[in-house]
Amino acid sequence: MSNNTQVITRFAPSPTGAAHAGSYRSAMFAWLYARHTGGKFVLRIEDTDTARNQDGSDTQILESLAWLGINYDELYYQSKAIERHQEIINELIAKGSAYVSTEPAKDGNGMKDVIRFRNPNKSVTVHDMIRGDVTVDTTDLGDFVIARTINEPVFHLANVIDDHDEGVTYVIRAEEHLANTPRQILIFEALGWEVPHYAHLPLVLGPDKLKLSKRRGALSMLTYRDKGYLPEAVLNCVALVGWNPGTEQEIFSREELIALFDLDRVQKGGAMFSEEKLNWFNREHIKRLSPEKIREYVLQYLPDRIKNFETYSEEKLTALIPILIERIATFGEVTTLAEAGELDFFFVTPTIDTALLSFKGIELSETKVHLQQVQNILEGISEESWTLDEIKEQVMKYADSLPKRGPALHPLRFSLSGREKSPDPFTISAFIGKTETLARISTTLSRI
Ligand code: GLU
Repeated sequence: MSNNTQVITRFAPSPTGAAHAGSYRSAMFAWLYARHTGGKFVLRIEDTDTARNQDGSDTQILESLAWLGINYDELYYQSKAIERHQEIINELIAKGSAYVSTEPAKDGNGMKDVIRFRNPNKSVTVHDMIRGDVTVDTTDLGDFVIARTINEPVFHLANVIDDHDEGVTYVIRAEEHLANTPRQILIFEALGWEVPHYAHLPLVLGPDKLKLSKRRGALSMLTYRDKGYLPEAVLNCVALVGWNPGTEQEIFSREELIALFDLDRVQKGGAMFSEEKLNWFNREHIKRLSPEKIREYVLQYLPDRIKNFETYSEEKLTALIPILIERIATFGEVTTLAEAGELDFFFVTPTIDTALLSFKGIELSETKVHLQQVQNILEGISEESWTLDEIKEQVMKYADSLPKRGPALHPLRFSLSGREKSPDPFTISAFIGKTETLARISTTLSRI
């Protein structure tokens, strides 16, 4: 095991498509551990397997990490180390630790030279920081392939060479790689290199308790950004997938995560990530944003159609923001609400379908009586006292005097919004003002 005192961790994604929260959990833990210990965090794009590489996927990784605020100290592209990989393959052959094996090609086209590792067939123990000691008899692995040709090292080999050359002291990665580790330790030993510390992270499960996967709907990190999630909320939520600080606290800032994170509180068992959880974290982090920041986000997601209404103004936006925040989990939902027409009535008079005006089972004639009563009550409130609390108090007095509130409240809300779904009528009345509120009620009454 490494005696090196400096902690150097890395994230080593393959650029094979849009990576989801499962991959970024590995990135996050490696980064948190490096930052917690004052060490270094290296990003290595493992792009040697050219057949599997996908264009633009490295850019996506860089953008996602930048968005999450996961900053790296060094960046490597594995494909650039190919000469070094060849040098090591030759060294292993020269030492007798590997040999060229001429074998029938996999594609059936004649014979091919592959490089195989001469397995010492011994038992290898992985000292895993999360799982404890895992001992494996490597005999079953046989003389495994380390390069498909002298120019094509396979994952095990390239990964080991790069970790060594980049000075990586802690390999923190997904559990699925635990099975590769004994092979990799054999390669480290054959080269006389120090074996790094290992920490294999528990599986990231989706809400269906199965391994999180793109095929079952896991979204790419950039999709979360575009949907208007806050990076600090994603960081907080994903940091708790398989780790906890041992207290009841759930909301953490980036700095708190760095201060508290340690590998000894990473669990062995799989841990769940779900959008439902993420939405909860996002709401909590929205509440902690400054009013300026919230405004910035809302403006970013509020469609121009709304901003172009004649009645739209900076003051109206200020009044709208708390109403919006009540209703959204992500800022992207500001756009969704606007596109569903659920914001228009704050700025323009809605058209009312009188067939939907009455509360369930109530005659239109009775609805009219209630709406007139409410109209009288509202007329009695002065402009100066026109506040949400006052409107609510006055109208509720009447609604509560009835066997049910709905017959009075529903037609009021509907007259103001014209929608089946909208905020309560007090919120809308306070927002649009006394004159507009009474105008909307009169219009509705004139149509009954
Ligand atoms: N490129 C590998 C992957 O994306 C990295 C494995 C490792 O972290 O060692 O799974």
